[in-house]
Amino acid sequence: MHGSYSWRQLLPNTYLTDMFLPTNFDAEPFWVELDRAGIRTAVLDMPLVRPTPLQHGIHAVDWGSHDSQLSTSITAGTSASTTVERLQALGAYPQRQCDTVVIRHGHETLVKNIHEGIDLRSKALSILLDDAPDVLATVFAETHCAGHHLYHLHDTADGRYDADLAARCGGDALLHVYEHMDRALAELLARIPGAASVMVLLSHGVGPHQDGSLLLPEILRRLADHHRPTPAWRTARARTYARAAGVRRRMQRRLGRRNRVDLKIRNVDGSAPWYPLPNNDLYGAIRVNLQGREQRGRVRRGSDYEQVLTLLSDELLALRHVHSGEAAVRSVLRTDDLYPGPKRDWLPDLFVEWNWDESFADLTSPTVGVIAGVDTPIRTGDHRLHGEVFAHHLPLAATSPIPVQQLAHLLVDEAYRRRSDTPPGETISAMRPAQ
Ligand SMILES: [Zn+2]
Ligand SMILES: [Zn+2]
Repeated sequence: MHGSYSWRQLLPNTYLTDMFLPTNFDAEPFWVELDRAGIRTAVLDMPLVRPTPLQHGIHAVDWGSHDSQLSTSITAGTSASTTVERLQALGAYPQRQCDTVVIRHGHETLVKNIHEGIDLRSKALSILLDDAPDVLATVFAETHCAGHHLYHLHDTADGRYDADLAARCGGDALLHVYEHMDRALAELLARIPGAASVMVLLSHGVGPHQDGSLLLPEILRRLADHHRPTPAWRTARARTYARAAGVRRRMQRRLGRRNRVDLKIRNVDGSAPWYPLPNNDLYGAIRVNLQGREQRGRVRRGSDYEQVLTLLSDELLALRHVHSGEAAVRSVLRTDDLYPGPKRDWLPDLFVEWNWDESFADLTSPTVGVIAGVDTPIRTGDHRLHGEVFAHHLPLAATSPIPVQQLAHLLVDEAYRRRSDTPPGETISAMRPAQ
C-alpha cells in the first residue's frame, strides 16, 4: 500500500538505492481521517510518518523515536497552543539515534538515556492527557532501542553475552528497561478514564541478531556465476553506467543542485540476473533483473521469471551451516503471494527467512561451496515474528491471530462509534497479531 519496507530502498526503474524517508510515503496515517471528522487526537512519536497538519489535534514527530529520521516537530491546531508550549518546555529527548550513542558513548550511556527517556515520555504523555484528547496514540521507543542494543546483557546463552558490561549496567539491563516501561504504562493507564478503550500493542518479539544477510551478496553472485554467468560486456557496460551516474551526482553537488542526502545513493549490479537489496537484516531480500521492469533486464517475464524464483528458492534452501549441518534458511517467501498491492514493483521479489536459531559464520551448499564471514553487527538483538495486543473495551476476539495492519481500522471504528454514542463493548483480550 505505502510501498515502504526498509530504511533503504531501490529507486524504481533504476539500479540505485537510496534512503527511504517518512517524507517519501504518500499513505495517510489513521489520525488524519479522525481529525477531518472533528475528533481530537494527540499523537506522539508514532514512527516513520511525516508531520501531519491537524486542525483539532496535536502531532509530535521524532521527538524520542528509535532511528529518528526527521527533525523533531510539533504540528497542532490553535486550540492546542498551550499544550505545545508545555511540550516544548520539556526540551530535547536524551538521544536521536541509539546506534550512534552506543558507538560514541557506550552502552552505559544508552541505558541511562533510555531510563531518562521513559521518565520524560511519561511527562509528555501527562501533558497531552491534561488536554483530554478523544484519542491518544504513542509509541514507547525505549523498549525497541533496548531490544536492539541490550540483548547481549540479558541472554547468558548468547555468544556475545558480556558479564562485565552487564555488571556495569546494573545487571540485566534489558529486563530493567522492560520493568521501568511496565511502571510507566501502569501510570499512564491509571490516568485514563476506566470507560476508555485501550489498546496496548507489543509489536514483535526480540532475539539474538544473527542472520545471513551479510553473506547474501556473495551467495547470489556465486549462484549467478553457476546458473547464469554474466557476459563480460554486460559487466563492463554496468560499470560505465554506474561511473557516469557517480560523476553526474558529483557534478550536480558541486553545482549546488543536489544536497547532502544524495551522498547516500548507492548502485546495485545492473548486469547481474539477480541481486540483493537492502532490507532490515532479519530477512534477506532479492530482486530479479526483470525485462520490462528494470532498465536492462536479463530475465524474461513469464516462465523464465518463474524458473528463476524456483531456482533461487531451491538453492537457498540447500544452504547449511558448516559447524552444525543445520539448514541456514527456513523458507523463501514470494512477494507476489504476500504483498500484491499497487506498489508491488517497488519491492524485492523474494524474501529469505534465515534460521535465526543458529549463529552465522560459514555456510555451504553443493553449488556455492563454502562462504565464510562472521557478522558482528552493532545491534546484538533483532526483531522476531509475532507480538501481542492487549485490549480493553474493544471488539477483539481473545484467541485468533490478527494481522497487525488491521489494528488501526479497529481504533478508527471505535473512535467513530464512541462519537456516535453507541454502547461500548466489554471485551478484554490478549492475542497475537500475525505479521
Ligand atoms: Zn533505537
Ligand atoms: Zn528495530
